[in-house]
Amino acid sequence: MIMSYIRIWKDLDVQEVKKHLLVWGMLNGDCGNCKYVGLPLEVKICPSCKTEFKYLALRNKSTPSYVEKIIKKRPDLLVIDWQDFSFQYSRKEAKKFLE
Ligand SMILES: [Zn+2]
Repeated sequence: MIMSYIRIWKDLDVQEVKKHLLVWGMLNGDCGNCKYVGLPLEVKICPSCKTEFKYLALRNKSTPSYVEKIIKKRPDLLVIDWQDFSFQYSRKEAKKFLE
């Protein structure tokens, strides 16, 4: 087996992703559900809203080696692209507003 990191595209429910998203900055993370700040990378459940983290997005543009380092520390989370997520989320929100 030759294991390597490959980015994948998957049809996801953006509302569901937002509810369980840990947004990682360079030093700490925020809860995507309640915006609680200053979370450590090891956090499994938000101390404020008690949501379980299932997804992780890196807010800043990162090198592949930095992303790999984060994935190795949290192999239980599905790492998603922050720009994909924020673009799709704002698109859905705008659509909801117009309906
Ligand atoms: Zn929270």
